[in-house]
Amino acid sequence: MSGLLDELWCAEHNCPRISISTGENYVCLFDHVNGRVGTCRVTDVVNDNDGATLVFENGVELPLFCPCCEKEIDATSGEELLKELNGMRLETWVFAHGESQDKKKRYPLLLLGFRNGRKKKEIEVSLTSARRMTGKRLMGDGEN
Ligand SMILES: [Zn+2]
Ligand SMILES: [Zn+2]
Repeated sequence: MSGLLDELWCAEHNCPRISISTGENYVCLFDHVNGRVGTCRVTDVVNDNDGATLVFENGVELPLFCPCCEKEIDATSGEELLKELNGMRLETWVFAHGESQDKKKRYPLLLLGFRNGRKKKEIEVSLTSARRMTGKRLMGDGEN
């Protein structure tokens, strides 16, 4: 009975499967991010309810949550992020682990790698960010 493990872990991409609000099944984290914002350009960072959200060129929004404490990444750093990320393309999305400074806490995270020409920027977000991606264009998702 390996069914449960297969359901929660993707061996192909070495990442967890996550539950998302729109479906009852678990989906591969890599595929989920790839299908929505993979290789897409960031066009805006919106600050709302004290949290920052990345907006991609295809209309998908990715709210930023801190991987260590699951708190929304605040609006102040959102401003900074916009300056850095605007126009950059999401090139890599990798499942990884982070560690608290006292090394007592280890937590899963999604490492997003952006690039624009020679400029590169990596940010660490919670898997919650991937779960909460939204966008108008997602209607009819999975069909051509
Ligand atoms: Zn996978
Ligand atoms: Zn934190």
